Amino acid sequence: MKYVLAADVGGTNIRTALIDPAGNIVSEQRQQLNLSACGNSAQHIVATLVSFLQPQAKQATAIGIGFPGFFHGQTGVLAASPNLPALQELPLADILKERLGCSVQVQNDALCAALGEFHFGAARKSDDLLHITLGTGVGGGLILQGKPLYGEGGMACEFGHLCVNTNVDAALCACGKRGCLEAYASATAISFLYHQRTGKTLDAFAIYQSACSQDPAAMHLFSEAGRYIGEAMATAVKLLDIRHITISGGVTGAWEILQPSMIDALEDHVISPQQGHVSVSLSTLKDQGGILGAASMAMGLI
Ligand SMILES: [Zn+2]
Repeated sequence: MKYVLAADVGGTNIRTALIDPAGNIVSEQRQQLNLSACGNSAQHIVATLVSFLQPQAKQATAIGIGFPGFFHGQTGVLAASPNLPALQELPLADILKERLGCSVQVQNDALCAALGEFHFGAARKSDDLLHITLGTGVGGGLILQGKPLYGEGGMACEFGHLCVNTNVDAALCACGKRGCLEAYASATAISFLYHQRTGKTLDAFAIYQSACSQDPAAMHLFSEAGRYIGEAMATAVKLLDIRHITISGGVTGAWEILQPSMIDALEDHVISPQQGHVSVSLSTLKDQGGILGAASMAMGLI
């Protein structure tokens, strides 16, 4: 059997999986990997990645990798990675190909999640897709007319940095701007805002549990996040006239609280001919979208 090796590189861990041509995960590994701890050395970061991938690469015909950074189209050249400033204009795919001895495709992690949905998940029958990832940060990937949209600098669909609040005291985002969606709807933001509003320190999951016990501050945070997500979705729908939106990520655990305000805001903000025509669905791939999207690149599906 010919397998591809897919990898999803996160902020603190890496998932690798051997995947068969039908998209079935044959074997999978999750390991701690903190590339930020490699310091300011691109060589060290690459060597660390190679050492993680090498054992499984021997069984694979090709490798696909979702990576937190911006890539120049399909070239595999990493333009920049906000969390790994040592990596700039790095031909990552070519370097890994030489070290690992087989074909390597590398792409932005959120775009990989969109590709996973598009090829193996809820969006298989659509030509256009907006996929949103709601996790530690908020990301997005766009497929238009069957093809991923990269953008000139690999930064197409920075969905988390759409501005949803223009007030001068709007929440501050990690990007340095105020009012970004990520500053309201990421797990980090939900925890930060809850602390700001109640004085209590809880992670997003504990805040969700608190919301389920009718904690008004917690309930308000999730419905506010849902409203802002819906408004940002409406912006994308008006710009692109897409009809399929999928969502994944840890924050979607609070779906039953997020969804009503999200759909209300989406329908309120699109133009009337679009009302009722946009389907918003949870990922059917759970947390496997990114790795399956990486596999789809290795299989040559894009
Ligand atoms: Zn931002």
